[in-house]
Amino acid sequence: MGFSTDAIHAGQQPDPVTGAVITPIYQTSTYAQEELGKHKGYEYGRTHNLTRASMEANIAALEKGKYGIAFASGLAATHALLSLVKAGDHVICSNNVYGGTYRLFEQIMKDYGLEFSWVNTSELSNIEKAIKPNTKMVYLETPTNPMLNLTDLQGASDICKKNNLLCICDNTFMSPYFQNPLTLGCDVVLHSSTKYLNGHSDVIGGILLTSDEKIHERLRYIQNATGGVPSPFDCWLVMRSTKTLAVRMERHEKNAIALAKYLSESGIGKKIYYPGLSSHPQHELAKKQMRGFGGMISVDVGDTEKAKKILKNVKIFTLGESLGGVESLISHPASMTHATVPKEEREKFGLTDGLIRFSVGIEDIEDLIADIENALK
Ligand SMILES: *Cc1c(COP(=O)(O)O)cnc(C)c1O
Repeated sequence: MGFSTDAIHAGQQPDPVTGAVITPIYQTSTYAQEELGKHKGYEYGRTHNLTRASMEANIAALEKGKYGIAFASGLAATHALLSLVKAGDHVICSNNVYGGTYRLFEQIMKDYGLEFSWVNTSELSNIEKAIKPNTKMVYLETPTNPMLNLTDLQGASDICKKNNLLCICDNTFMSPYFQNPLTLGCDVVLHSSTKYLNGHSDVIGGILLTSDEKIHERLRYIQNATGGVPSPFDCWLVMRSTKTLAVRMERHEKNAIALAKYLSESGIGKKIYYPGLSSHPQHELAKKQMRGFGGMISVDVGDTEKAKKILKNVKIFTLGESLGGVESLISHPASMTHATVPKEEREKFGLTDGLIRFSVGIEDIEDLIADIENALK
């Protein structure tokens, strides 16, 4: 099936009792059992919920995976994922991952005997160099936030296969509409469904996708045993949202391309980071492993004062963290998401005080451009 057909139909069938076309919100903690040992396959809400199962199947289809395992947040999904390794094991990570992922690994999981190496995975040889006898997992995020660096997923997963390592990809930035890491050899894909999957800035959620039966069984066990499951209502909201993922992503991208063009032609952007521009150092890789370039742009406007002026005066763009919603957001990574990274370190990879990150929404592009023009007046 095509992406949009799956988005609208996969995992869902009319309710057998009433014929309701939309999967109901099964807001229940437990299920009536007919007699000892005889029930309909549903025993307890943490373990089984049909709204959740429908959403999991829906997103699994979009990621070209067999199984989805949902969690109450992206970080709860990441945390559960780390239960696939154990004390004494070593994990290699992209050095520019989501800040909360870094915090979870360094501030919490390290105390449980896990070892992490942070490497620039845009250079595949860095992954190979970091492998040790106790390495078990490679944790990738591509494109990265906010510099939008890419990692070659096929190349990275080949290295993982050769060395018997689990290959994980956080695909939150691209969404399954533009990139499917499982088809490029990754073992597990992670999403913060808070972002593009839900897309309306009203749910916190996470999900893991895999086609490997053994990994699925273990993750399903971990989901039930650790219990970080999403509510039925949140699952229903995400499923309502994935139906329009294709049209939203098309519009996010169309607006992002137009905004990137405007920022470069107007001279406002001294340096523009967007994988869709031929000036992006990995534009060729982007074209090869993604079907589009997404809605995230970072722009270095050259000086802090100009950045501040834009951030302060925009009216349609909302100053805030997060991304992937229908409304446009603007943020200042140096003082917001990446404030804990020392200035010298940040500037080494281009994260200056003049850098602004845009999560381009699906409003009218003329209004978005006028908003930035007016902010600078
Ligand atoms: C937001 C985000 C997460 C964490 O997800 P939450 O739903 O906020 O817990 C993980 N990875 C990326 C790339 C994100 O943007």
